[in-house]
Amino acid sequence: MSTLEGFTIPKTQTAAVVKELGAPLEIEKSHPVKQAADLKPGECLVHISHTGVCHTDLHAKEGDWPVPSVHPLIGGHEGVGTIVAIGENTPNSPVKLGDRVGIKWMADSCLNCEFCRRGFEMNCPEVKLSGYTVDGTFSEYVVSYTNHVTPIPANLESAAAASILCAGVTTYKALKVSNTKVGDWVALPGAGGGLGHLAVQYAKAMGLKVIAIDTGAAKEKLVKSLGADVWIDFKTSKDIVADIQAASDGLGPHAALVTAASQTGYTQAISYLRKGGTLVCVGMPDAEMGANVFWTVFKSIRIQGSYVGTRQDAIESLDIAAAGKVKVIYEQKGLDALKSVYEDLEAGKIAGRVILEVSKQ
Ligand code: NAD
Ligand code: ZN
Repeated sequence: MSTLEGFTIPKTQTAAVVKELGAPLEIEKSHPVKQAADLKPGECLVHISHTGVCHTDLHAKEGDWPVPSVHPLIGGHEGVGTIVAIGENTPNSPVKLGDRVGIKWMADSCLNCEFCRRGFEMNCPEVKLSGYTVDGTFSEYVVSYTNHVTPIPANLESAAAASILCAGVTTYKALKVSNTKVGDWVALPGAGGGLGHLAVQYAKAMGLKVIAIDTGAAKEKLVKSLGADVWIDFKTSKDIVADIQAASDGLGPHAALVTAASQTGYTQAISYLRKGGTLVCVGMPDAEMGANVFWTVFKSIRIQGSYVGTRQDAIESLDIAAAGKVKVIYEQKGLDALKSVYEDLEAGKIAGRVILEVSKQ
């Protein structure tokens, strides 16, 4: 086993735990920490400094997805911290003790199956999901996997890097598969949220024209400040399809990237998309999409699901943030604020992201 020189791993830690489905979130002050000697080959122990709170964590806590999570559940999958121990006999670790790394939703995959080989690591049958099937980043220490943790660029602060590990990589990858090119229009329902506000920025960095769709003055101000070309409030618009098409040459956007966790965000997209356009599905309500078959065929629409990103996508999305082209807009709080952050997410009150400082480093 190997432990970071001069570092003592405590026996207990603070962690935000949901003991069973439907149970309230509890901040446990003496949750056990896995010790270095107990790490398996390929595992590493990461001392978390910051973590983002994603709407997915809320789906996990509520248990509103058709795939069950583990319990007790420690959520969180936008974590940044330092590697303080690596399991004995870990072969060819791409990271070392003391490295600052990110923990993303995809905690580990086998890297050998057909899905991993074809660039669909997230669909690996052996995949481990941070904060869903394995403990996540809402704790001071988390066990992760040397092959999948993501090195954080030196010039990017941990708090600013955290949400790139999910919101950033997911929207960056979704834009990559959106079949768009420089100068095209993209509609972003959910633009003022955690994923959406990064989608606005990656889209602008890729040379796209952005129609930002969300609601309320705070989100309007945010997306406009990030370079959105058009703002449409889905609650006050009288005819959202007509408004979106009018804003994009009368023909509709070339792609829609839906990060809203609502069915209507999807149903409308088939109506307003340009002929030959692509609907990229990212937001994950457990709902039918309501895509009309006739119009999907008649308009030559492509419907593309996009699920997080690969190790390479994570590195690329962080590089773009490190180059200053994309910035996470966040409010920082402590781990004990998690319960109220969930309430605010549920109510749609958060413009951008909330980042929790888990430990001072
Ligand atoms: P968020 O709550 O921060 O943002 C969602 C935004 O959608 C909010 O600003 C809300 O006001 C807006 N919205 C709601 N209904 C809308 C509508 N009809 N039209 C336009 N905007 C609408 O959530 P988030 O953290 O950005 O996550 C969004 C969704 O993406 C969640 O369902 C989450 O689970 C999912 N997600 C998917 C992936 C993936 O790999 N595909 C990765 C991460 C998150
Ligand atoms: Zn997420």
